[in-house]
Amino acid sequence: MSSFWNSKINEIEPYTAGEQPKDGQKVIKLNTNENPYPPSPRCKEALLDFDMSTLRLYPNTDSKAVCEAVAKVDNVKPENVFVGNGSDEVLALCWQTFFEKKENTGKSVLIPDISYSFYPVYSDFYDVRAEKVAIKEDLTIDPDDFTGRENCGIAIANPNAPTSICMPIESIRKILDNNKESVVIIDEAYAAFAEGYTSAATLIGEYRNLVVVRTMSKSYGLAGLRLGYAIADEELIEGLKRARDSFNSYPADRLAQTLAAAALSDREYFEKTRKAVMDTRKRVMQELRDMGFTMPESGANFIFAKPPVSITAETLYKNLKAKGILVRYFNKPLIRESLRITIGTDEEMDELVKAVREEIRNVQES
Ligand code: PMP
Repeated sequence: MSSFWNSKINEIEPYTAGEQPKDGQKVIKLNTNENPYPPSPRCKEALLDFDMSTLRLYPNTDSKAVCEAVAKVDNVKPENVFVGNGSDEVLALCWQTFFEKKENTGKSVLIPDISYSFYPVYSDFYDVRAEKVAIKEDLTIDPDDFTGRENCGIAIANPNAPTSICMPIESIRKILDNNKESVVIIDEAYAAFAEGYTSAATLIGEYRNLVVVRTMSKSYGLAGLRLGYAIADEELIEGLKRARDSFNSYPADRLAQTLAAAALSDREYFEKTRKAVMDTRKRVMQELRDMGFTMPESGANFIFAKPPVSITAETLYKNLKAKGILVRYFNKPLIRESLRITIGTDEEMDELVKAVREEIRNVQES
C-alpha cells in the first residue's frame, strides 16, 4: 500500500506469473509453458539480415508483415489481424474495447471459474464485472452453461488452462450462436498442441462477434519476443486499433515484427516442433499414469496431473522444487489436487519422471 498509488492500484490483486529462476541458477523449468525448442532457424537468419539503421525509425503501427504472415497461415485477410505486445496485451485491449464497465451496465463478462487467471485481473483492473461460470467436475466446459445468461462478453481459453482440456469447434459454435449480441473471445494460446483441433479462426467470416487470440510464445518458441495477435472481423479489429492508439501506437517493435513474420513463414519447423512436444507428452502421460497419476487428455504443451493418493500435489511440488524441478501448483479449490507440468525436452522429462518415481518410492517406504 502507498499513499502515492491511486485506489485501484492499492486494491488490485495483480496476476502472479510462474516463478523465474535467478540468473545462473540451474533448474528444469516446467512451470510457465514455454517451448523447449528454440524458434525457427529463419528467425536467426532474419536477425542477421536485419538492418540496424532502421531502428531509428518507428515500426509499422499495425505490424503489417506479421498480419500478412498470419493471414496466409489462417486463410484470412491481413485486415482481420491485430498484433500486440504478447497476447496478454491483446487480451487487455480486448477487455477495454469490447466489455462494458460495470458503472455503465448491469451485465458481466462470463469466464470459466477455472481458467487463465489473468481474466479476473483484467476485469478488476478495467472495472468490468466478471461472472465465473462453474466448469464441470471432470474439469470440462459445457457450452450450455454459456447459454441464456445475460452478459457483456465471454472469454474462454481453448484448450483451457490449467486443465489442458480442449473443447471441439462445435461447442464454440454453440456458444457463438447463443451469444450473438456480445463479443466472444477464444484464447487459443495452446491450440497448436491439440490433436485434430479445428481452430475457431475458421469461423471468422461467419461470426461478427468472434475474436480468436493467439500467441507466438508457446508453439513458436518465442516467449522472449513478446508478440501475440487477434483474428476477428474488421469491425472488431478497428475497435482494437482505437484502444491501442489510445494507449501505445507501436506495441510491437521492428525486431519483433521481423522475427515473428520469419517464424510464421516456416511451417515445416512449426509442424516438426509441435509434433515433438506432442510425442513427448504422450510418452510422459503414459509413464505418469503407470505410476498411478490421473489426468485428462491434453490439448496443450502441458499436462494437468493428479498424483496417486500416497502423495499430495503440494508435497510433490515442494519436493520437486527442492530437486531443482519447477512445476506449477495452484492452491485453489478444484485444482489443488493436481500439478500443471509443462512438456520439456525428452531429457528434461526423463529427469522429471525419475524424480517423481523417487518421491513416490520414498512415501511408500516411509
Ligand atoms: N493466454 C493463456 C491461456 C496463457 O496461458 C498465456 C500465457 N501465460 C497467455 C494467454 C499469454 O501469453 P503471451 O502474453 O506470452 O502471449
